[in-house]
Amino acid sequence: VRVTLGGEALAGLAVTEPAASVRVLLPAPGAELVEPVWTGNEFRAPGGDRPRIRTLTPWRLDADALELDVGVVVHGDGLAAQWAVHAAPGSPVAVSGPGRGYRPDPGARRFVVAGDETAIPAIDQVLAALPAGAPAHVHVEVARPEARLAALERHAPARLTWHDAAPGAPAGATLVAALRDETVTEGTRVFAAGEAAAMQQIRRHLFEVRGVPRAHTWIRGYWKHGRAGSHD
Ligand SMILES: Cc1cc2nc3c(=O)[nH]c(=O)nc-3n(C[C@H](O)[C@H](O)[C@H](O)COP(=O)(O)OP(=O)(O)OC[C@H]3O[C@@H](n4cnc5c(N)ncnc54)[C@H](O)[C@@H]3O)c2cc1C
Repeated sequence: VRVTLGGEALAGLAVTEPAASVRVLLPAPGAELVEPVWTGNEFRAPGGDRPRIRTLTPWRLDADALELDVGVVVHGDGLAAQWAVHAAPGSPVAVSGPGRGYRPDPGARRFVVAGDETAIPAIDQVLAALPAGAPAHVHVEVARPEARLAALERHAPARLTWHDAAPGAPAGATLVAALRDETVTEGTRVFAAGEAAAMQQIRRHLFEVRGVPRAHTWIRGYWKHGRAGSHD
């Protein structure tokens, strides 16, 4: 679900890197928006509770119209998932950020880009920011066919492969397999984002089995199976 946030408070927000992040405070339905306090380490509600915050990708920012689009995966009872389904014009929400994103290496000869549905907004931006003409092989795992968003199809010369998650398989299993089969040469750079354990397997394979330098990769756990809250 794509949600457009808007309002004067977005004035001054600037997003300069692809795959950056914003933290979004999601009040319970009908509840007042109470801004949390930054402790220097994390956000806390004024009473000390953990606020209802999730991390999303600032997919499209229109600084003139003061609009920010986020794309939210509807995966079940998650706060963000349910918020996206039920949000209505005028629902209050607070945003902080942006957090740093990814800078594609302008000298790379080829890119391998991988992620699950949560990474589709980030991948859309990464592909748009690749050096002109740089070939890329893109792997996206989806749990449901309607997540095959056409937005990703418009990035020639990137070659896009959709992978359907097998029922019951761990999230990201097709991405782990796809990266095992990829050619990763000296000039290849790897971007990957998705379920944390799958990303850890990809790191282990690339670093320990293939000897790929860490600096040639940007691999992030975007969520963790069985744990609420963003995983960054
Ligand atoms: C830098 C960064 C950028 C991100 N960008 C986006 C984005 O643009 N869009 C987006 O949708 N997500 C994005 N995420 C991931 C998102 O923050 C998490 O998926 C988050 O857990 C969703 O919150 P929720 O309230 O819906 O679920 P939670 O309340 O956090 O989790 C509830 C349960 O659902 C599981 N779960 C969480 N996410 C998923 C999922 N996608 N599929 C299946 N099960 C899940 C959890 O393991 C937990 O068991 C990003 C994360 C990071 C770190």
